[in-house]
Amino acid sequence: MTIPAIKAALSIAQVLAHYGLEPGPTGSMTCPFHDDKSASMKVYHDTNTAYCFAGSCEVNSVDVIDFIMHMEKCDKRAAILKAKELIGIPLSNLPVRPPKGETDQAKALDIGTIYPASLEAIKKHAAAKAYCLERGLKYWDFLGVGYKSRKTKDKWGRGCILLPLRDERGKIVSLYGRAIKGPGHYYTAGRKGLYPHYPDHTTKTLILTGSVLDAVRIPELLTPSFRSIDPHVDNSRLLGLRR
Ligand SMILES: [Zn+2]
Repeated sequence: MTIPAIKAALSIAQVLAHYGLEPGPTGSMTCPFHDDKSASMKVYHDTNTAYCFAGSCEVNSVDVIDFIMHMEKCDKRAAILKAKELIGIPLSNLPVRPPKGETDQAKALDIGTIYPASLEAIKKHAAAKAYCLERGLKYWDFLGVGYKSRKTKDKWGRGCILLPLRDERGKIVSLYGRAIKGPGHYYTAGRKGLYPHYPDHTTKTLILTGSVLDAVRIPELLTPSFRSIDPHVDNSRLLGLRR
């Protein structure tokens, strides 16, 4: 994998999420590379870079590999290896942080706890896994599908498979639940966000679907014949799936 290919496949948002960093709505954040008290760093999602405006800082403009290099205090070679590792991590393994500024109901639901718990629950729930197979979601694990048990304390989404909706910074802001028995489907209050995530700067083709479940099923279309429609488009990037 060449360095440009790595840079194209790894978004700055993913690198920031890996280190538990989160820029504000305008892209500004506290610089992790100097003792910053004034959010000197600005993140540019369109160019996949960040820039520290503090004169005293050892870094100015950093791309994804530079960012890793400075965070890990390693050399470029080690940073490239780390970057490759991050590319291979399924979306569901990105750190899940509880959303801020949600409605009270959504806050009470604690998406940041429910979703990770659901990823564990589905592994032990034969009916939920069978439902996934029935709906064409063979790769439920890779797709970040969870399951919320009927026995959970809060009522929302009981007996549903769950999917996370993320904001433009990759943070989970809502959940979608589809009952494995019966027709019910639900969103957490104040629904927002996209599954699997917002398109990034490498997106060449954007597929919008009528329902979240339709989007989850698209990877099933990523067969060699589908791929051959346009060999120049890397379909694995359409949905942020990593090869
Ligand atoms: Zn700085």
